[in-house]
Amino acid sequence: QKLIKKLEETIENIPDFPIPGIQFKDISPIFLNPGLYEEVIADLVNFSKGKVDAVCGIESRGYLFGIAIAVALEVPFILIRKAGKLPPPVISEKYDLEYGSAIIETREGQIKPGERILIHDDLLATGGTTEAAAKLVEKQGATVAQFSFLIGLKDLNGKEKLDKFNAEVYHILE
Ligand code: IMP
Repeated sequence: QKLIKKLEETIENIPDFPIPGIQFKDISPIFLNPGLYEEVIADLVNFSKGKVDAVCGIESRGYLFGIAIAVALEVPFILIRKAGKLPPPVISEKYDLEYGSAIIETREGQIKPGERILIHDDLLATGGTTEAAAKLVEKQGATVAQFSFLIGLKDLNGKEKLDKFNAEVYHILE
């Protein structure tokens, strides 16, 4: 597909960043090209149109596309942030990282019971962050209807972690 090819030519693969052995995908060149950004948003909006009541974006690159998706769908956008950034009251979820653990939070009451939620982030790797975000959504009585990403890395089995939520999963690239 044309969009996939354009993105593959645009996203930079940086070896050994932030630590040796990791290949970092830098999406920032997308923002140098407004037309390409619009095409990405249109593609992600097309996946979610009519299917969700609100969009949750994961800090921080999940905001870069998530807000535009929500505005185009004319639904609320809710921030999921790292611990300590949002004022109380918040709902928290702890999850394991390769070394240690992390906590993500959302403002209590912004996700409404019964809502169908799209969780969006730029990249799915091990799925740990996204899984924690989905648990936050469920803690508030809402349902995860969809997950979307620009990139879904294949080798890290992130998708398997999301199976239990019975939601649609979409990524533009692998
Ligand atoms: P996971 O929890 O292992 O799935 O990691 C996903 C999170 O790490 C997302 O919030 C991504 O933004 C970030 N991330 C991991 N690897 C990369 C990368 O190569 N480029 C950009 N972000 C990354």
